[in-house]
Amino acid sequence: MLKIPVMQPWLGEEEVDAVARIIRSGWIAQGPEVQTFEREFRDVVGAVDAVAVSNCTSGLHLALIVAGVGPGDEVIVPSFSFIATTNSVLYAGATPVFADVEISTGNISASTIEQVASPRTRAVILVHQAGVPADIAGIARFCSSHGIFLIEDAACAIGSSYMGELIGKHSELVAFSFHPRKIVTTGEGGMIATGNQEFATRLRKLREHGMSISAVDRHSSNISQIEDYPETGYNYRMTDVQAAIGRVQLVKMRKMVARRRELAKIYSEHFSEIGGVYPVGDPSHGLTNFQSYWIRLDTELGVSRNELMIALEGAGISTRRGIMTAHRELSCARFHTTPLTTSEYLSDNSLILPLYHAMTESDQERVIEAFKSVLSA
Ligand SMILES: *Cc1c(COP(=O)(O)O)cnc(C)c1O
Repeated sequence: MLKIPVMQPWLGEEEVDAVARIIRSGWIAQGPEVQTFEREFRDVVGAVDAVAVSNCTSGLHLALIVAGVGPGDEVIVPSFSFIATTNSVLYAGATPVFADVEISTGNISASTIEQVASPRTRAVILVHQAGVPADIAGIARFCSSHGIFLIEDAACAIGSSYMGELIGKHSELVAFSFHPRKIVTTGEGGMIATGNQEFATRLRKLREHGMSISAVDRHSSNISQIEDYPETGYNYRMTDVQAAIGRVQLVKMRKMVARRRELAKIYSEHFSEIGGVYPVGDPSHGLTNFQSYWIRLDTELGVSRNELMIALEGAGISTRRGIMTAHRELSCARFHTTPLTTSEYLSDNSLILPLYHAMTESDQERVIEAFKSVLSA
């Protein structure tokens, strides 16, 4: 029996052809294809501009720099997130401060942020965890009334929407990931959607060693130009090979999200009937892309999360533990101050189930049946 994966990217011949076209063109580093991908991405999410980077973590790092965050500043983040959210704050030399999350969404909110805000709070990074849109307006209201800069970690949230509009246009800096564990993939890659043209200009310099003239502009210019380096930058570039894959994937995005929502609906119909199982769903203010389909389990179920994972693994079904917490990892433990009860509870008692574009109804039935048979055993 074939093993059912948790996630699988939807790639095909179109991506193969796109990569072949770039290789034949002779220009494979960051160049015209990245520029086209940026414009198409900007138009899809409705931002003013979009800047491609090497991954979402480097995107968050650059976002913090252009937001003016540095040593001595505190940045509020959820601990309940992939560790990259916290690490980006450390790269900027600032101090991460962990806010707890709401149990129904796994997201920070104005009220959990307020509990840990201080006069040193310079920025907040909200995360649309697993694709579930956070309450952007509520958090933005709190931030603007306290002079705090808001950044969105939308690593998981391409195709999710807030109040009827795709995530990416609601804040000045919104960072996306194209890792294969997300939905739209370029292997590795990221994008910063921005509402601020000056930020975009500075981000483009910072991602390319701080160079005043990009390599592609120098090569395409017929007069010889000498670049300068007014500030320290990074090598956070995306390649044209990646951008070519991304352009094909971006066209497929709406189909991918629609299919995930269809499959998620079937899961939720089954799981909401089981006592002690609480499936993730849409919050009142938006629609999730179900980047991860997770269920929360409580003691009424009679089986622990870890027992379930082992039993499902035995039936050839991959699952993942709930989202991690950063504050319980050695590298971040020193930043932990306030209790993060809900974050710990969710992390320890939730389970991520298989969901991928090519998943068939019979694959999904296998997961549901295996789950039910563990409960009845
Ligand atoms: C995956 C992920 C990241 C990191 O994305 P990369 O592109 O791998 O750097 C950051 N934040 C969250 C919430 C993620 O899930």
